[in-house]
Amino acid sequence: MADVSIDSNICEGCKACVLQCPTEVYEMQEGKAAVVAGDDCMACHLCETLCPTGAISVKD
Ligand code: SF4
Ligand code: SF4
Repeated sequence: MADVSIDSNICEGCKACVLQCPTEVYEMQEGKAAVVAGDDCMACHLCETLCPTGAISVKD
């Protein structure tokens, strides 16, 4: 299990992480991505790679 966090001050709401995470860890809430199923993260780091603003941190 990984520790996933989003800095909502940096997220610009592009939805890339919401659409691409294979285990649906994220959903949109009030225009920003939010972690809703962090326990399902398999630490593939795809979301970190996709995020254009560096808002996501995944710690193995
Ligand atoms: S590291 Fe992979 S599984 Fe975890 S939240 Fe990001 S895209 Fe989803
Ligand atoms: S990929 Fe980054 S900027 Fe885009 S919605 Fe997710 S956290 Fe926000």
